[in-house]
Amino acid sequence: MTSFLVTGAVGILTGLPGEAARAAGDIRVEAGTITELGDLAARPGERIVDASGCVVTPGLVNTHHHLFQSVLKAVPAGMNEPLAPWLRLVPYSYWHLIDDEALRVAARIGLAELMLSGATTVADHHYFYSDRFDYDPSAVLFEEAERLGIRFALLRGGATKARRFDGTDMVPLPTESFSAMTAAVERDVARFHDPAPGAMRRVVFAPTTPTYSLHPHELVEAARFARSLGIRLHSHLSEDTGYAAFTLAEYGARPVEWLAGHEWLGDDVWFAHLVDLSEREIALLAETGTGMAHCPQANARLGSGIAPAPELAARGGAVSLAVDGAAANEAADMASALFAAFSLHRAAKGAKAVRTEEIMRWATAGGAQVLGLPAIGTIAVGKQADLALFDMSNPRYLGQHDAVLGPVISGGQAQIRASFVAGKEIVVDGRIPGLDLGELGAAATRVVARIKQRAKKGGALAA
Ligand SMILES: [Zn+2]
Repeated sequence: MTSFLVTGAVGILTGLPGEAARAAGDIRVEAGTITELGDLAARPGERIVDASGCVVTPGLVNTHHHLFQSVLKAVPAGMNEPLAPWLRLVPYSYWHLIDDEALRVAARIGLAELMLSGATTVADHHYFYSDRFDYDPSAVLFEEAERLGIRFALLRGGATKARRFDGTDMVPLPTESFSAMTAAVERDVARFHDPAPGAMRRVVFAPTTPTYSLHPHELVEAARFARSLGIRLHSHLSEDTGYAAFTLAEYGARPVEWLAGHEWLGDDVWFAHLVDLSEREIALLAETGTGMAHCPQANARLGSGIAPAPELAARGGAVSLAVDGAAANEAADMASALFAAFSLHRAAKGAKAVRTEEIMRWATAGGAQVLGLPAIGTIAVGKQADLALFDMSNPRYLGQHDAVLGPVISGGQAQIRASFVAGKEIVVDGRIPGLDLGELGAAATRVVARIKQRAKKGGALAA
């Protein structure tokens, strides 16, 4: 049932720029593709999707996440710490406690949270691969995504060198040789990667950070390796001022400039965060088409600052929206991310800092652009029908003169009446078919209790 007519919407945000950002009327979907837009009459026997009282948007695209962190929320030791000590006290202290069930439950929590906020595509940066595990993290993540029907990109992380702050009181971070890492990526590409413009599955090469996780001589090789496989490159960069301090001290250049010399910029690369950028770095990113996964809420939670996303977008750069891992953003849903982007840039730079339609574009077309999925991200004829229906019947939306802006400007928990991936319904009447939230809650309680108990026995650090 991937053919239907979406009718009665309050309005449509298309994800397109300028005047085309809004549309009105109906959307015809045939065999999972948008075939007509406008004032359309139902054909005999055509399935009707009732969008009355709803704003329809492209399915939202989250371009940077760490699903394993969905069972590491609100860890007390990390609640009031900035990035580096938070990394040490939370993900890097708990990574070895994530067993098969913990990763599955975490993925399910995170994906469900995202789907119920309008997401239809998720890119997950997973960076703990170790012989300690008796399971295959890549396979677990793809299985959980497939089970829920969401598009999924695995950003295969990892490190060839451990970070400097690893102490002897921690289980050492897993590292791989460069050849073992690239061999593992090749295997994941062979098993899971689809290069099609509307792929359901993608693999991206994503060493955890270029600065801290790879030896400098491996950077060019890493970039060439990814391009030789026809896959994209991703990493964390300049999440706070510590990155620039490190590369200036070690290599005499700011991070983006330094990476420019190592073939790490281009329209097949995007970085998470990019909070701390010089004017020159913003220009370099824009000129090369290198993308940003803007994570306003996680950056706020860790006190890292506010990324110059509007400035990059104003230069024609590729900006996408992301939530980042839930251990540093306990509201890891796309509705919160939209509202955070809307409010934080205005708080910092005034009411003209960013327009509502532009934020929706980052969360949709921008995401499709950085992931290299041109078949999705906008509501336009010929695109795949990845759609989200935001129900506007909640009191928080009532009384709005321009109701189409509600999904961005009102914040709070989104009410997704339905969402579709290539015309296939993945949220139905506000629920995810086949997912029992009661069972998921019980599993979360069980997994968190087990992690806490194992952490107490040794392994995780106190504040
Ligand atoms: Zn991250």
